[in-house]
Amino acid sequence: MTYEAERASLIKLSPAMAISVRARELRAGGADVVDLSVGEPDFDTPAHILDAAEAAMRAGATRYTAADGTAELKDAIAAKFARENGLEFSRQEISAGNGAKQVIFNALMATLEPGDEVLVPAPYWVSYTDMALLLGGVPKVVECPIEADFKPTPEQLEAAITPKTRWLFLNSPGNPSGAAFSRAELEALGAMLERHPRVLVLSDEIYEHILHDGAQATPFLAACPRLRDRTVTVNGVSKAYAMTGWRIGYAAGPAGLIKVMAKIQSQSTSNPCSVAQAAAVAALNGPQGFVAEAGREYTARRDLVIDGLSGIPGLRLRKPEGAFYAFLECKSLIGRLRPDGRRLAGDADVSEYLLEAAGVATVPGSAFGLSPYVRLSFAAARPLLEAACTRIREAVAALG
Ligand code: PLP
Repeated sequence: MTYEAERASLIKLSPAMAISVRARELRAGGADVVDLSVGEPDFDTPAHILDAAEAAMRAGATRYTAADGTAELKDAIAAKFARENGLEFSRQEISAGNGAKQVIFNALMATLEPGDEVLVPAPYWVSYTDMALLLGGVPKVVECPIEADFKPTPEQLEAAITPKTRWLFLNSPGNPSGAAFSRAELEALGAMLERHPRVLVLSDEIYEHILHDGAQATPFLAACPRLRDRTVTVNGVSKAYAMTGWRIGYAAGPAGLIKVMAKIQSQSTSNPCSVAQAAAVAALNGPQGFVAEAGREYTARRDLVIDGLSGIPGLRLRKPEGAFYAFLECKSLIGRLRPDGRRLAGDADVSEYLLEAAGVATVPGSAFGLSPYVRLSFAAARPLLEAACTRIREAVAALG
């Protein structure tokens, strides 16, 4: 008996989740494993947000809500866009879902015709291409290696645009690269996109608050206001407020598209959790001290990881401007021999070797559409990061 429809067979389980499961298994067997594979803050959700959730529950916020978010949540999202990004949106231009992941899924499902192309610069967040595949689209990957600072140029993207291109995905600061576009770079992309009116832009800005060295994120729409009728800005509370498990993400875009996204959501998950919506309102409207504090800690950890890994022969790194990942190029390790005689044939082998020999769980670059690299998350306590760097250094030194 086979259960899997063809479209489901096109996609895979999230590789980071699979590696994290393996790291847990090794730990259960007594191994000392530092898990740097998952992309989530290691902090607890701030107390005032928990309090707001509890109060909401007790006040009866335990029922279905409007499919794509309560009026309170939409107003809090609109206020956030105005306050932090200088962007004005009405309720009709905002949609909240079960994580940024669901609103991205909704946007693709709302718009893709079979065979439509989705332009995705690599390295990319793993779900973009699989979502496109599941929804009948064709991912077109544009490789942006470390030499290009992990960023596409307008020329490179324009060369990949065809009459079938429906979306361009941008993610700044990016997962897994940590690279962020400057305003001038976004303006140049916008100028190119004006020549291609069928192309919609999805700007995933979920890491906007995790920016190092005092840098300021530029929202795509702030740099390219003329593209308002075809830009969807995606964000969420997962990363900024340590709320990954609450599952609230949101999008702002043209009212016509937001309406279709709401219709799709109404027939799939209905509304996002009513209590989580109340918590997200408290996160967005409440004190913002946590965001800055967590940001400073991520920067300290980034510096620790950069210091700890720099100078390891065979690994190249670029200092990430944002997010909490280091994306290490490991070309010179490919072909080398492990102490047990096995050869490292690609970045999956490098990642496996680091897990088995160094007890450090990472994700191979192949999961993000760019090889040979490995991603490690520095959303972990400093002593763990120090131990991981030392062990990676020793494991690399042990290669033949
Ligand atoms: N976009 C990017 C670039 C991410 O890295 C992630 C999570 O890892 C998401 C979106 C999804 O976030 P959410 O928890 O809101 O679904």
